[in-house]
Amino acid sequence: MTDPIQSIVIVGGGAAGWLTASILAKQFQLKTSEISITLIESSDIPTVGVGEGTWPTMRNTLRKIGIDENTFLRQCNASFKQGNQFVGWHDGQENDKYYHPFSAPQAHGKFDLSPYWMQQAKQDFASSVCFQPQLCELNLAPKGITDKQYQGQANYGYHLDAGKFSQLLKEHAIDNLGVSHVIDTVEHVSLDKQGYIEQIQLENLPSISGDFFVDCTGFSSLLLGQAMGVPFIKKSDCLMTDRALAVQLPYDNENTPVASHTKSVAQSCGWIWDIGLNTRRGIGYVYASEYTTTAQAKQTLADYVGVDIAKLNAKEIAFTAGHREKFWHKNCVAIGLSAGFLEPLEAAALMLIEISADHVAQKLPGCKSLLPIVADRFNQDMSTRWNKVIEFLKLHYVLSKREEPFWQAMRASSSTPESLTQQLKLWQYQPPHEYDFSSAVETFPAASYLYVLYGMHFQTDLSQRDHLVSQQDIAEKLFQLNNQPTTQLSQRLPDHRTLLTQLQSHSFQKI
Ligand SMILES: Cc1cc2nc3c(=O)[nH]c(=O)nc-3n(C[C@H](O)[C@H](O)[C@H](O)COP(=O)(O)OP(=O)(O)OC[C@H]3O[C@@H](n4cnc5c(N)ncnc54)[C@H](O)[C@@H]3O)c2cc1C
Repeated sequence: MTDPIQSIVIVGGGAAGWLTASILAKQFQLKTSEISITLIESSDIPTVGVGEGTWPTMRNTLRKIGIDENTFLRQCNASFKQGNQFVGWHDGQENDKYYHPFSAPQAHGKFDLSPYWMQQAKQDFASSVCFQPQLCELNLAPKGITDKQYQGQANYGYHLDAGKFSQLLKEHAIDNLGVSHVIDTVEHVSLDKQGYIEQIQLENLPSISGDFFVDCTGFSSLLLGQAMGVPFIKKSDCLMTDRALAVQLPYDNENTPVASHTKSVAQSCGWIWDIGLNTRRGIGYVYASEYTTTAQAKQTLADYVGVDIAKLNAKEIAFTAGHREKFWHKNCVAIGLSAGFLEPLEAAALMLIEISADHVAQKLPGCKSLLPIVADRFNQDMSTRWNKVIEFLKLHYVLSKREEPFWQAMRASSSTPESLTQQLKLWQYQPPHEYDFSSAVETFPAASYLYVLYGMHFQTDLSQRDHLVSQQDIAEKLFQLNNQPTTQLSQRLPDHRTLLTQLQSHSFQKI
């Protein structure tokens, strides 16, 4: 084979770099193949250091790369995440809250309970069709100590310490998967005459050549953005938040309950995330600098946390919503913040890293001449995914009745993607259905749209669809079926904190 791809160079040692290194190393079985992976990271440029919520996809990723779930939970101070709770998003009044749980509604995909729920609407949508909100309300874990690794009685992802997570992945990639590690700062990226990356020049060590490069350099996008000149497409006209203030907070005492969901609490110019890890809480205010000052934002966060603003030791992060025009160009692919960033409302960034790295692992060709074909597919796939995430994030805002200028701007039709506007028109007369999401690379399923739409009190007029609402007996059985696991699981599952404490000395068995 001419021009074979044998040496892969990853630049960046944040969560994106080490996750990608592990996923590729596992796929290519480095110890027995001719492929090598080198990861370069700077000791002078820090990682972003936030990113504490994952999707359930992370279970499969960790299992696939060979990390023990007990080790992961202990070393990353991780806890279980069963979904998101949105507080104050509809109108900001008392009791304005709803869940977007990870478990799908009863019989989802086979029988649509939503029209029947609309007719009776005895309790909120999520609790009527899914048992998981109740588990979250009771601070229960999604599994017990006798359940196997990565298996749950309810669907779950994690909350984790981002720094410890990168460290665990680093040790695993180097010690167990054969990834070579170089600590130095990249000074220059050399391209050949065709515009392919040839070599990475370092500050102190000799240059490193490679056949294929992965840009995991964070917001700087040193390879794909700066060296190759792939433009950044701003999405800040649609998603207007551009700052985050993050703090870490100890628990009041060692018995304080640990929430098993991310709380997203709406504020006048954005929203606050509240995440419970095993050992502390991670809290942050995501806001739009056009509508508030840093000082006001700090005050908002201090009020939420309940500390004096003078004592608030918040890390400030600036960002612009958007993504690269292309994610894979010639012999370079960008994964992580170098590919783009959108406000972390549904914690989709790590999931996009997992999917991107897996796509590269499955499709990276053996020779350079095939790269353009694979790159084209990857770019189409990832563009669709990014646009779908943007639409879904925007959905949370366009349904809000909040009156502050930020919220009015966020729901203005001029800032809303046309495709979302069209879907909302349709959903006025029929609930979201799998057929509304026909792409093979859908990021959020119909179930997620159902939870957000009806959690936000969206009205669907079923009068044109009377003929469909005729299987009341089946619906009643499913509503009852939902109540059964709710009661049974509530009795069977351990308290979340109790399980996390138990895990310090006991372990989940291997599958
Ligand atoms: C406020 C906020 C909240 C977030 N919350 C979530 C969440 O809940 N869930 C989620 O999934 N995601 C979340 N994210 C996103 C998540 O943090 C990132 O996707 C994840 O941490 C990956 O970052 P990264 O590795 O791409 O970049 P970084 O962590 O910034 O790492 C960049 C790496 O590149 C290296 N580097 C840079 N320049 C050079 C150079 N010249 N030479 C050598 N090395 C270099 C650095 O040393 C570093 O190792 C959040 C992000 C923000 C900003």
